[in-house]
Order: sequence, then C-alpha cells, then structure tokens
Amino acid sequence: MGLVSENFTKASVLNRLPGNSAIGHVRYSTMGGTVLRNVQPLFADLAGGGFAVAHNGNLTNGLTLREDLVERGSIFQSTSDTEAILQLIARSNKENTIARFIDALFQIEGAYALVALTNKKLIGVRDPLGIRPLVIGKLDEYFILASETCALDIIGASFVREVENGEIVVITKDGIESIKPFPFRKARPCVFEYIYFSRPDSSLGGVSVYECRKAFGRQLALETPIEADLVIPVPDSGVPAAIGFAEASNIPFELGIIRNHYVGRTFIEPQQSIREFSVKLKHNANRILVEGKRVVLIDDSVVRGTTSIKIVRMMRDAGATEVHLRVASPPIKYPDFYGIDTPVRDQLLAANKSLMEMQDFIGVDSLAFLTVDGLYKAMGHENGRDPENPFYTDHCFTGDYPTKLRDIDRVDDIRQPSLLSELEKDND
Ligand code: AMP
Repeated sequence: MGLVSENFTKASVLNRLPGNSAIGHVRYSTMGGTVLRNVQPLFADLAGGGFAVAHNGNLTNGLTLREDLVERGSIFQSTSDTEAILQLIARSNKENTIARFIDALFQIEGAYALVALTNKKLIGVRDPLGIRPLVIGKLDEYFILASETCALDIIGASFVREVENGEIVVITKDGIESIKPFPFRKARPCVFEYIYFSRPDSSLGGVSVYECRKAFGRQLALETPIEADLVIPVPDSGVPAAIGFAEASNIPFELGIIRNHYVGRTFIEPQQSIREFSVKLKHNANRILVEGKRVVLIDDSVVRGTTSIKIVRMMRDAGATEVHLRVASPPIKYPDFYGIDTPVRDQLLAANKSLMEMQDFIGVDSLAFLTVDGLYKAMGHENGRDPENPFYTDHCFTGDYPTKLRDIDRVDDIRQPSLLSELEKDND
C-alpha cells in the first residue's frame, strides 16, 4: 500500500527479488476496497505452477462469477474482481496453463488489460474490444509490457506495437508469440483515456494524447466562442486543452491557478469532506494576474463538479470580473463500469442537472461542454460520431455500453453500497 518509491526501496526490496522477469501494478482500486489483500498482482499456486496476474480495468460480471464460484466451493482471498480470473483458471480442465487462461478469458466480461506471469512466461492480454490500453516495448533483447508508451520512454525502451484487442501475447526466452482466440471484433478503445486517463506524453492508437487534448480545446473554442481576457487551465489536466483553446480563440493562455505538486489526486479521497479540503490544498489563485480580468477556465472533464465549484470561487475571490467554464469533453451522464471510476449516477453532475442548473450550481457566468460530435471531429472523424459504428467506447457520454453489464442487470447499480458492503467489510 502507498507509493512505489516508499515500498520498493532498493536495499530492502528490489535487491532481494530473485529471477529475471517481473510484473507489477500501480493503481487505486476501483472494484473492491483499498485494502492490502486487494493489492495486485494476485498470485495463486495452480496445478501448472505459480500464476500471478495484474488487471487494469473492471469486469462487468465479476460479482456474478464470484457468486457462482463461491457456490461451487472456491475460496476468495480478496474482494477484487480480478481474483475470479485466477479461480477460473484453477477450475479449468484444459491441457495447459495458456489453454486454461484462455478458458477463463472466455468467461469474463468487461474491460481488461492483463499482465500475467508464470515460471516461464510473461503474458499480456487485451479484452476483445481493447477498452483499456496495453503496449509492447523492447529494451535490448527484452520485451516489456506497459499500459502506456510513456513508461517505455522513461526507461529508455523502444515502442514495438500495441497489444491488439482480443490478443494474447506470450513472451518467453525464445521470443514473442501472438494468440487470437476470440472471434474478430472491431476495437473500441475507451475515449476517456484521451480525455483524462492517459498521460499526455503517451501515444495511443498512434495518436499523441497531448495533441489530441489540444485538438479538443481548439474544437471547444470553435463550438462555444467567448470574449475573455485570459484562458486559464485547471492544472494539470486542463493544460493541453487550454493551450488549444487559447490558440483557436486568440486569447492569451496564462497560469491563473498554481498547483501544489506535493499533494495527491483528490479523487482517491473516500470522503467528500476530505476531498473538498484537498481541492483547496491543491490549487491557489495567481491573484495579481487574475484581478479585474474576465477569465475562461478550461478543464478536461467535470465529474461531480467539486473541482469546478472550488476553482470558480477561487477566481472570484481573487477578483476576476467574469468567470466562464469550458469543459473539453461532453457532459458525463452515465456511470462507468470499465475502470474509470466515475461514480454512481446520482453523483454525476451532468446526469442530474440541465446545463443551466449546472451553470448555477458551479456559479459561473457561462458554462459549455464539448459536443460528442466535436470530440470525434477533434480526433479526425470528420463527420462526428457514427452511431452505427462508433469508433470509441464513449458510454460515459452516450450510455452506449459496448459489453454486457451482467452484474448491473441484476441490480440498479454495480457500486451500490448495499451490494458491495458485504464484500468490502474487512473481516480479519
Ligand atoms: P469533479 O471534481 O468530481 O468534477 O472531477 C473532475 C476533475 O477530476 C477534473 O479536474 C478531472 O481532471 C478529474 N477527473 C476526471 N475523471 C477522473 C477520474 N476518473 N479519476 C480521477 N480524476 C478524474
């Protein structure tokens, strides 16, 4: 639990790791609580030997599978949806580990980019739609799997290619093998990676995330022009879009909010009260710049509206005469079940309020979001979103969920406290 730098100190941990391959996982948990037993990779001693797996994404039938498996005698150690994968492998009667793994993959639904490790094999998998990213890199003769290309840059590795949707890559000392067990489907990567999730120094689907965000900002300026003195990004996530917005609207880009880099993401705070305080700790107005100015704030997205409210108030307190908010993505009207961790529907601002109501609630002089078609146009799809054949997984904005949502079909909302509370109780 905690930061990588605090846990993987050289002397005490890294030097004691034997072997020549490894997997690891850095996340804040989405499904299943943030407790030590959910820390990944998860490991099991199976008939074919040790098997470890780490999972980016969320299964949409994790609870259904868990119930079935527990009924059949499986003993779960964690509350993570990922553990169902290990249990399914353990129960498979296929001939070898890879075949058992594939057998398990055919039973899981939802979003998953997986890395797995056996004694001899390093394995990467992307779900049939490729919702979450996974890339292959190479450093000297060694293969590397990572969620994002920026991880490769940092260690001086080269980018080889993305793992394709529905593809399994098996890396051994002899090289890399590709297996495609699923019937062919067109990929539908999650558009929210481009909006917020991925780092701007990564490229995804051959597209620079940074350039993409700038293009969202330019498109936003075209769609909802505004007269103002300054374009101010909500740091850091709003910066590339604000650069694009400033460029297209010819309004100077300025840092009107200064970010404190020594506090973490506000999203991970479980309590709303702490989250609100963290927002204050995190940002401060650049008062001398903002005083007496008409400002247009740019953020990449609005989820609950917590950040927006604080930042708008901060601008007014610092003497801004007008405060406008432009959001470089469409209104998030639907909850996510694929690992983005946008909350239950009643906490999503845009799911519950009209544009005017949101404007009043946030306290801005004007508010506008990028349109869904504008989002696609900014990404090079000239005609906007094709409803018959949407290129991305964009359910947050459209309600078009590309997989079955088996767990939710049973209840209204997968993350309803009543459903998970039993699982999340720390019984030990
Ligand atoms: P909120 O304050 O709830 O409206 O959240 C919006 C802010 O959180 C924006 O500044 C985004 O950059 C950021 N954000 C958006 N989606 C997520 C997410 N899934 N996890 C963490 N932060 C997010």
